Amino acid sequence: MIKRIKLPGWIVIISLFLLLIVGVVSMMQGSSEAKEKTEDYSVYPGLNIKTKTKETDLYTFSVSQPYTEHKQINKVIDEWVDQQKTDFTSEINIMEDFLKKNEFRAHLNIQVETEKIADQIYTLEFEAYQITGGANGMTKVKPFILDLNQNKMLQLGDVLQVKEASIKEIQKLIMKELNSNKEINDYIFEELAKEAIKNPDNWKWSISRDKMGVYFDEYEIAAGAAGRIKVEIPMKKIKPYLNKDFVEKIDITFPEEKNNKEEEKHSEDMVELDPNGKYVALTFDDGPHPKVTPQILATLKKHDAKATFFMLGSQVDYYPTLANEVAEAGHEIGDHTMNHQDLTILGIDQIQAEVQQSNSVIKKAAGRTPNLLRPPYGALNDNVKQIAANMELPIIMWSVDSLDWKSRNATAVNEEVMANVAPGSIVLLHDIHPSTAEALPELLTTLEKQGYQMVTVSQLLELWEDKGVGPHYGNIK
Ligand code: ZN
Repeated sequence: MIKRIKLPGWIVIISLFLLLIVGVVSMMQGSSEAKEKTEDYSVYPGLNIKTKTKETDLYTFSVSQPYTEHKQINKVIDEWVDQQKTDFTSEINIMEDFLKKNEFRAHLNIQVETEKIADQIYTLEFEAYQITGGANGMTKVKPFILDLNQNKMLQLGDVLQVKEASIKEIQKLIMKELNSNKEINDYIFEELAKEAIKNPDNWKWSISRDKMGVYFDEYEIAAGAAGRIKVEIPMKKIKPYLNKDFVEKIDITFPEEKNNKEEEKHSEDMVELDPNGKYVALTFDDGPHPKVTPQILATLKKHDAKATFFMLGSQVDYYPTLANEVAEAGHEIGDHTMNHQDLTILGIDQIQAEVQQSNSVIKKAAGRTPNLLRPPYGALNDNVKQIAANMELPIIMWSVDSLDWKSRNATAVNEEVMANVAPGSIVLLHDIHPSTAEALPELLTTLEKQGYQMVTVSQLLELWEDKGVGPHYGNIK
């Protein structure tokens, strides 16, 4: 069953002066301490991740980008990401009329897979997908190998013995893997493939503890039907050609297994709410964030307020303990997909993958399966609703947009929310902007003064389902 009922508008305007308690406290602590605290949360020591999203009438984009303490390393990644944005923007300029005429929003998605291969050495496998109209989008792949001990990106020569004989053997291995892959071998243009791997300087490669990867963009060596290609050569085959120093590092470092909590914990206590009470559900999207989320948790705790966090799988992958802290504090966790893609431009299988991946990443980290779905940008179509229904995930939108993503200003956030809030409101906030964390103490105080109690989305909908609140889609169980 699908419901969509809008709240009546409600106007209460209160101007506020903010006490920047959080800011003052963190200033007193000093920035170095704050830095250490941030690193504690990442399962990839020395690495953190930021997911940036943007939405206009013409396009949406979402970029997940790891960063380090090393400027040089960040710069190399920045340059590649900026190049993708530039390409995308110039494509948008060309396609502007088409986009407007067809009411199609272009989308750029940059996502990353992170793997620790030795102490302070990481492989980042970036994938940039852009669609600016027409039927097919385009995917580009870019691997980086970071050595934080040496403060540099590893080059092929740091990993491989770049001797003619070794290179020849590896070229043979690559061709063999390409030809033995039944899914793609019909589409491969052998001459193009040989040409592409002729010069090792041009390889797009990565290394992990168990394999070497070699990448080809869509159309580079095969017909479009093959998509982008990743050849994987098992470690035991590639090991003889690796630098001994490098092999030793991999062998010595044994990344501790992540402390996954497999068992399902009890969901937060469902307190019986008063049908005549004033309740509001604050929701925080796009986290967890190593600095902002802990601040928000602390403020919520101080006010004994409960909230709902719509988490991104890509962020939870980096900060699983933080996801767990949110759950432990009794807040609700919803699913905001793996990579913050505009789901309406994806095929049904891709939509399912986006939701299922984040669902399992969150479950592993927080010990709890998210029971709500909020699609990125609130972008919905029938396929998204179908997948959500199949997975028994109610789709949760919002009735009050704090516009924190736009204003990045604590005072403005307070004003925007208080001008529009009403009993039963679902308020959209983001636990990735420091200004949102700054806004929260005042926001909670003001809401409390007006008699509001902060509850989770499920609690709110349980109470309000008969009366109708929303908009939301699907039933809360
Ligand atoms: Zn979002």
